[in-house]
Amino acid sequence: MPQISNNNKLFKCFVCNAAIHDDKVSYHEQVNLPVCQSCKGSDEENEKAKELLEGLADGFVCGCI
Ligand SMILES: [Zn+2]
Repeated sequence: MPQISNNNKLFKCFVCNAAIHDDKVSYHEQVNLPVCQSCKGSDEENEKAKELLEGLADGFVCGCI
């Protein structure tokens, strides 16, 4: 039986917002977001991930004050 699923699903790189084909997609370990091949391992990726992680932390801190 042929398996017909959503193979055309596109992901968006969280660094540059480019569409990534699902067989090229990688996930950033810490933020668990898709990243394209050209951003993977780049300084931009690290910075963006840091930004996102700090943003999350801020959100948590906010409620406590
Ligand atoms: Zn990218």
